[in-house]
Parts: sequence; structure tokens; C-alpha cells
Amino acid sequence: MRAEILCVGTELLLGDIINTNAAFAARELAKLGIDVFNQSVVGDNPARLRDALRIAFERSDLVIMTGGLGPTYDDLTKETVAEYFGKKMYLDTESLESIKQYFSKMHSGRPMTENNVKQAYMPEGATVFHNYNGTAPGLAVSDGKKTAILLPGPPLEMEPMMTRSVVPYLKKMTDHVIFSRTVHIIGVGESYVESVLKDYMLSHTNPTVAPYAKTGEVQLRITASAKNEEEASLMIEPVIEDIRKIFSDYIYGIDVGTLENAAVQLLREHGLTAATAESCTGGGISQRITNIPGASEVFGCGVCTYSNEMKEKLLGVSPLTLKQFGAVSEETAKEMAKGVRELSGADFGISVTGIAGPGGGSAEKPVGLVYIAVDSEHYKKAERLMLSRGRENERSFIRITAANNALRLLIEAIHAAAKKGGSR
Ligand code: ATP
Repeated sequence: MRAEILCVGTELLLGDIINTNAAFAARELAKLGIDVFNQSVVGDNPARLRDALRIAFERSDLVIMTGGLGPTYDDLTKETVAEYFGKKMYLDTESLESIKQYFSKMHSGRPMTENNVKQAYMPEGATVFHNYNGTAPGLAVSDGKKTAILLPGPPLEMEPMMTRSVVPYLKKMTDHVIFSRTVHIIGVGESYVESVLKDYMLSHTNPTVAPYAKTGEVQLRITASAKNEEEASLMIEPVIEDIRKIFSDYIYGIDVGTLENAAVQLLREHGLTAATAESCTGGGISQRITNIPGASEVFGCGVCTYSNEMKEKLLGVSPLTLKQFGAVSEETAKEMAKGVRELSGADFGISVTGIAGPGGGSAEKPVGLVYIAVDSEHYKKAERLMLSRGRENERSFIRITAANNALRLLIEAIHAAAKKGGSR
């Protein structure tokens, strides 16, 4: 099946908003093994939309469209698609009921305006998709050869509709499943991973192995096409084992999402807690940890001590250490980790101190120099990292990579504690 994505909206053309819908839809289609050959954007203009749709269907069987399902006169996606398929519009009473319910629930009695009724009109024969977060239902229109799927523009509405309704709809259209697992690697770059795995990747076509570079980490996605998920999973297992042998020390998890997700999950599994003491990451680690729902079970304290004074006052870092070795030093990082562990009573204290730049570097301590440390009863470790790549505007990269490494060190410490029987 050849697919393409057509997003509707003048704001997109003007660059006022970023086309996250196209990226999201493309990723979901890739997971299903559906090849996306084109992505395009068209403004809210009926003639140009008609043209874009015709061109899209000249080269593709499936067109995923987003935007232009709103209640106003210039929201014309549905009508244009109905015209393309030669379908009349009818009032879908179920959709109308959902819209009425949405208004009564979400707008505390505010009356629904007449133009919202427009959103309940559907091309005849359409499959309607419920909108979990808004009024405009989505829909699929098909003549057996060509299929258009129409989704609302706001990502908060489009994304759950895509995963909850469109993906199952598309699964029924294909006779195979595409199943992926992701190996998360930190500590080596994408080019290194690729060079080590190049022959392996070229010789494997099902499952395929593909590296994806994220800031400061690499993900290897292994994807199999099979009759069902179980079969695909069995095909992937030996490949994961091969990758484990090659990158053992650098793998921090399989299908764990983010580093913070992996850390929180592991802490929870072992009944352990962590606390953070941050300097150059400015609270970025605690922000990431607390992004995970339920983090309060394993995380009670994050301290951001940017100045030397606060490092002393809040974490008990010795003034002598600061004077002798400086704020960016292994000694300070160790004392920060120990300090926050004592302050919070957590099982692990993790710390980061470094120079994120662009100013503040010296020959001895250049921009990108970062120390991280972990402190726990049985496992204490500090690391010196040089995170600059010599590029401009690296501040953000250095801060994210420093946080990634601190989380990686925490994961390492949890594993070490678990091996020693450190779980509660
Ligand atoms: P509404 O009922 O809000 O009018 P709609 O389906 O008509 O929804 P649009 O009017 O095209 O959608 O877009 C509504 C909002 O959704 C935009 O202002 C924008 O914030 C967001 N949006 C639309 N298209 C995209 C896209 N491709 N990527 C990311 N955000 C988008």
C-alpha cells in the first residue's frame, strides 16, 4: 500500500506552526509497515485542496489528511473529499449526539453553536472515528481502491484518534503485522553504532535493524514483518541477543522509552528511592523524573544549587573542596551526591556539575567539562565527561547530555545495588 500525508492549514504554510501531525502520522504508519512516499501541505483553499487531493490519489492508495474539520466556513476538507469520491453528505446522528455531549461536559452548560452541527455531517458510507478530546469526529472514506482518512488538526485530538481508531482500522486493511522493539544505547555515538553494525544491518532484511540518534543516546529499532505479533517477536529475539553481545555495557534497556522512564521503573521495581543535586542542568533531571506519572513513589527531593554558597549551605559541600578543586570537579560532584542523599534520606543521591557554556570555560576547565556522581550505601562512583563537540550553541546539548549521563549512572547504580541484594 502506497500512502501519503496531506496536511491542511494556512498556518502551516506560513510557518506559524510546526507540522507535528505529519511526523506523528508518519511514525504510526511506519510502525504498521505502510510506506509513506510523500508529505504535503496545502492552505485552507478549496481549489488548491481539490488539486492536492487529486495529485495525492494519482500516486497513492491511502491519503491521511489532518486539519480543516472545524466548524467554520473555511474548514472544507470533508466536503472536498466527499466530492472527490462522489458521495453525498448526510447528518450522522451519533456524531451529533457526541458533539452535544462534549459541550454539556466540557463547556459547563455553554450552548453549542449552530455551526458545530456541520461537524456531524459525513460523506455517505464513511467510517466515523470518535474524537476523545474535541468536537470534530474523524473519518475514513474508501471506494475499495483509494482510501482517505481525515483527522482533526489539533494534535491533542489527532494523536489519540490516530492510535486508538485509525491504527486498528488500517491493521484490518493489511494481512501482516509490523512489530518493533527498541534497544536503548548510551555512551557511544550513532556513527560508531552504525560502523560496528553495518554488515549486520545490511544482511538482515526481516527483521531490519535501524539506528536512530537522539540527543546523547542512540536507539536501535529492530522491526519484523510477520503473520502476527508473536511470530514477529520470536524473529526479533535472536537479533536482540546479538546486539546485547556487541553493546552489552552501553545498553540501558529494551523498550524502556526514555532514560528517566527506565530509572523510575527500576527504582520502583526494587523499592528504592533517589534524589538529585544539580548545578549546570538547572533542575533538568528532576524535571524529567517528575514527568513520569507516579514518580513521587521513588523521588522525594531535587535540589538545584547553582551557586557555591548554595552547594555549601544546602548540600554541605565543604568550602575547602570548593576552594581547592573548584565547583566543577570530581570532589564537588561526589560531595553534592552525598549531601543530597543525606538531606533527603534517599537510597541514591545523583549529582551533576559542569560548564555548559558558552562562557565560563578555561584551558584547564573548558566548556563541556561535566562531572557526575552517584552516592549510595554500597555503590559510589564519579565520572568526568567531556561533552563539547566544538560546535556553536552547544549549551542545550551539553545540559541534556549531562542529564542523560547522570540518569545512566543512576541506572547503573540501581543494577549494582540489585545485584548486591540492595532491594528493600
Ligand atoms: P478546529 O476544530 O480547531 O478548527 P481543525 O480540524 O479545523 O480543528 P485546523 O483549524 O486546521 O484544524 O487547526 C486547528 C489547530 O490545530 C491549529 O491552529 C494548530 O494549532 C493545530 N494544527 C493543525 N494542523 C496541525 C499540524 N499539521 N501539526 C500540528 N498542529 C496542527
